[in-house]
Amino acid sequence: MTTPAPLVLSPSAPLPPGSTIGIIGGGQLGRMAALAAASLGYRVHVFCPEKDSPTEQVVAAATVAEYTDLAALEAFARAVDVVTFEFENIPADSVRLLASLVPVRPSWRVLEVAQDRITEKRFFNSIGIATAPWAAVTSAAELKDAVETIGRPSVLKTTRLGYDGKGQVKITAETNLDEAWAALGGAESVLEGFIDFAGEVSVIVARGVDGHWATFDPAWNIHTNHILDTTTIPAPIPQSLADEAEEAAHKVAEALDLVGLLAVELFVTKDGRLLANEMAPRPHNSGHWTIDACVTDQFEQFVRAVCGLPLGSPMRHSDAEMKNLIGDDVNDWPKILNDPGAKLHLYGKAEARSGRKMGHVTRLRPRKD
Ligand code: AMP
Repeated sequence: MTTPAPLVLSPSAPLPPGSTIGIIGGGQLGRMAALAAASLGYRVHVFCPEKDSPTEQVVAAATVAEYTDLAALEAFARAVDVVTFEFENIPADSVRLLASLVPVRPSWRVLEVAQDRITEKRFFNSIGIATAPWAAVTSAAELKDAVETIGRPSVLKTTRLGYDGKGQVKITAETNLDEAWAALGGAESVLEGFIDFAGEVSVIVARGVDGHWATFDPAWNIHTNHILDTTTIPAPIPQSLADEAEEAAHKVAEALDLVGLLAVELFVTKDGRLLANEMAPRPHNSGHWTIDACVTDQFEQFVRAVCGLPLGSPMRHSDAEMKNLIGDDVNDWPKILNDPGAKLHLYGKAEARSGRKMGHVTRLRPRKD
């Protein structure tokens, strides 16, 4: 009798429902992804440094450890069938270890580009996507040269670990450049021209293991204090610009050989051009409206892509407005529940700190176009 050969699954074979998806990061994005995964019959194991994270509250298993804890990462990788991220700032060594043990989607290349504003801008420009004018800055002297070239107003941003306006200083006519440089703690930075934009849009693209892709309709985003406040769909832009924004997201996904989900944020200039600001290789706050307004929402699409399933229809059946509940806004939950037109989503965070995303509310309207 001969021993049967071990069954080797092709890396592109779909992961069947019942498999376990490992999610790195335990915030609300992981929570909503885990809920979508559960709807499709998957189990989720979250890896996050904090106990009782929004994701941990809704999953089958959790590892509470630092993203640099290689022993914990190894045990996690052995316990799951695929690894993905709801948070992209994971050290290269950690991702390398995970990828040696289990499929990691999206790949390190995608995370690497999104982790560093300079790599990201260089990448956008290399595939023909315009950005604000920019220059790399590694010293106070370089900042002075960069301001000479780019002019004022401009924005100085740390290249890594910035989000929701953290790690940014606006350079105006009055700004003392030594103080601006000191304010960012001397971290490697990028100076960008300040864009007096007409608005901001984002496009979320999903791309599957088989290269099939789908985009959601571009969303119109209003930020307050650098934090997303509202997203409106459809974006009040001409169809030609919406098509261009979707094509930019598709181009990014193809160039990175993305498997998963990726959001591209773009400025719309007053003369009708698009300039890419940044990308995020995961579900995005500006896609929360899809939960209530699309056939397949961004979280289900994310799960489908990561598990090698066919993508679903991103068709929008309703127009929508999504409003974030930041900090104390969450105290309005009883009022929101009494509003028949409002759909409330809360993230299970105990403490409503200022600037903290506690939940969101979506209001639908019949689709007009
Ligand atoms: P970021 O952290 O790059 O996503 O920036 C957060 C928000 O700050 C953006 O969504 C914009 O509203 C604003 N912002 C960032 N960069 C610029 C820029 N170069 N010009 C104008 N506004 C900007």
